[in-house]
Amino acid sequence: MKNFDYKKSLGQNFLMDKNIIHKISDSINPNEEDLIVEIGPGAGALTKELVKKNCDVICFEIDTRLKEILEGIESKRLKIVFNDFLKVNLKEYIDEKKYKNIYFVGNLPYYITTAIINKIIDESNPYEITVMVQKEVGDRFMSKPNSRDYGSLSVFLQYNFDVTKVVNVNKRCFEPVPKVDSVVVKLSKNKKFKANNEEKFYKLVKDSFTQKRKNLRNNLRNYNLEKIEEELKKYNKDLTARAESLTVEEFVNISNNI
Ligand code: SAM
Repeated sequence: MKNFDYKKSLGQNFLMDKNIIHKISDSINPNEEDLIVEIGPGAGALTKELVKKNCDVICFEIDTRLKEILEGIESKRLKIVFNDFLKVNLKEYIDEKKYKNIYFVGNLPYYITTAIINKIIDESNPYEITVMVQKEVGDRFMSKPNSRDYGSLSVFLQYNFDVTKVVNVNKRCFEPVPKVDSVVVKLSKNKKFKANNEEKFYKLVKDSFTQKRKNLRNNLRNYNLEKIEEELKKYNKDLTARAESLTVEEFVNISNNI
């Protein structure tokens, strides 16, 4: 964008590649009674496609210098909020009763990706979250047991969502060009797993991965190890296993039974 002083501190790398913009937009298929929430619309490259979907769209953009450009997008169903997404009270802007499904989408500043996803999960009931993330972060979101990138973040996300790749994005698709490549990942709500006590489940997962290279006996030494061993036996595993070998379902079952 000519004459725009991109702010590194706001993660401002704007997507310029039309093909990628269409791929992201085509992957989001709301109905008329749904809502799209876009975080960090920037100069509105994706927003212009989202407003064609015939449902309400609300955008949260922190940088008021983009006001003129964003308010120039014509749509009766578009609302733009100039505020820090991490600081707003979502309930104030989103009337969940009014909508059937809520779709979140964002090409987010990398350093707040996890905070934004956590906020969405904590404060709303997302049907789908489509996010552009740094390639390595996307790999962690999608990774399966026994792979290098599998960790507590993978388990937390895959407990709540089916995680799939929408498209790889080369760093040259952005202006200015960032240091790393990206990937667009879709998190679609699933109800495959149900921990009886989610706080207990999240803590067990976190504790199990405390020191990735150590085994479960070490990382879970403050737990009732006998009980855990009993559970692990059901999956032909024992306390010498590492957290990275446990599936989401196994973590859920262990947490439910100890
Ligand atoms: N969506 C646009 C695109 O794809 O071209 C812009 C993407 S750029 C990577 C990130 C955008 O998020 C910028 O417009 C930036 O100003 C905005 N942003 C950064 N921090 C934010 C925050 N806390 N809340 C809302 N928007 C934020």
